[in-house]
Amino acid sequence: MGSGQVTAPVASQSPEPYRFRGRHITVAGLGVSGVPAARALHGLGAHVTVVNDGDDERARSQAAELERLGIAVRLGEQAASTLPEGTELVVTAPGWKPGKPLFVAAGQAGVPIWGDVELAWRLRGPDAPPWLAVTGTNGKTTTVRMLASILEAAGLRTAAVGNIGVSLLDAVLGDERYDVLAVELSSYQLHWSSSLRAHSAAVLNLAPDHLDWHGSMEAYAADKGRVYEGNRIACVYNVADKATEDLVREADVEEGCRAVGFTLGTPGPSQLGVVDGILVDRAFVEDRQGSAQELAEVTDVDPPAPHNIANALAAAALARAYGVPAAAVRDGLRAFTPDAHRIAHVADVDGVAYVDDSKATNTHAAQASLAAYESIVWIAGGLAKGATFDELVARSAKRLRGVVLIGADRALIREALARHAPEVPVVDLDRTDTGAMLQAVQEAKRLARPGDTVLLAPACASMDMFANYNRRGEAFARAVRELGA
Ligand code: ADP
Repeated sequence: MGSGQVTAPVASQSPEPYRFRGRHITVAGLGVSGVPAARALHGLGAHVTVVNDGDDERARSQAAELERLGIAVRLGEQAASTLPEGTELVVTAPGWKPGKPLFVAAGQAGVPIWGDVELAWRLRGPDAPPWLAVTGTNGKTTTVRMLASILEAAGLRTAAVGNIGVSLLDAVLGDERYDVLAVELSSYQLHWSSSLRAHSAAVLNLAPDHLDWHGSMEAYAADKGRVYEGNRIACVYNVADKATEDLVREADVEEGCRAVGFTLGTPGPSQLGVVDGILVDRAFVEDRQGSAQELAEVTDVDPPAPHNIANALAAAALARAYGVPAAAVRDGLRAFTPDAHRIAHVADVDGVAYVDDSKATNTHAAQASLAAYESIVWIAGGLAKGATFDELVARSAKRLRGVVLIGADRALIREALARHAPEVPVVDLDRTDTGAMLQAVQEAKRLARPGDTVLLAPACASMDMFANYNRRGEAFARAVRELGA
């Protein structure tokens, strides 16, 4: 693979255009993707029935709106488990689990099942913009937004779409004209996509996540790997994560499509990497063996944490695959500001930095976050979602000044700390009320020394104590401001 040439066979072409008029189509799930899908299909002359397991007030009001247009809606558990008579196609919300009775029935009847991404792909017009696609366990949103910023800096009309901001259906069917789209795809969305063919795509990393949904690590990886199917110009993989390279090798791509790696080390031919604090490209240059193109400095990336440099390199690789000049990579990265709760520096108090990475909701993300600082008081805990913490704790032990544990599954982390970092002081907070985060931050302040970082990187979901990770991060920032007051 070092040569950069993918040797897999040529992909089959896109399928025949699907004719929607007069077809009986079942949309599974109201909500962010279901409602626009139902409207779009109805507008194309299909007979649409929406089924939804929830039967609450919100569902009823959405249903009433659709019914006014002439779309049939069936609410409730029973309705959502039954394939409506005559269904020729199911379009599902991406999160619905593959084992649902509705899908089993569709499978038995030979009825195809598409997700929202597959639908958007099939509905795009003849001169639709190409897609630069990004998936991976962590870093998708950041990378896609960096990519959009780089494409914009190159003067291209673009948007960050998909599992982020603008929905793909809106991007595909709306009036806005784009040259190219930066598309974030989740493993669920990829599971339900069969004919999608990106211009180029990246898998950033692969770590166990959502395994209860996919059934196994193999199935999860295979779904992520679909993003490479039919790529035309480049399959971008992570040199440090061999599983991503394996997926490239297994993909059927267009002839001439190249495998392009990104690395935090010195890049080989057909790779992007880092040399003396400079991001360099040895893939999209005339002479890959003998030359490299400088793209940007590490300090152009905000924050310049290792995992975020990796995100920047992946975004740069996709932009370069599209033909963007080096200067636009630098300008786009400089113009990029990270989303909230992703390694956000909240304040310095008494020589200690307080950093909010509430979005680190799994161990892989938290590990990247912990690797970015030398001496840390770590605030962790919440809902573990079946994760184990031994590897995370063992790898991070030497950086830990202390740990403050919160949330329902904190005992799992406490036990891993006892096994791998017995000398690190741990404060175990047995409360879940609204004051818990304030106390956590106060305890962290007590443990910290000047020069340390107090890092909220919980490695867990937030819903045991907070509405979502945003609320958790906001509670942390509020608590830090109270300390400083
Ligand atoms: P996603 O959209 O995949 O959830 P985000 O860009 O929103 O990814 O980042 C989520 C969290 O994952 C961040 O808060 C950070 O802790 C972590 N993260 C970001 N990029 C990476 C990466 N390349 N590798 C590992 N962890 C990462």
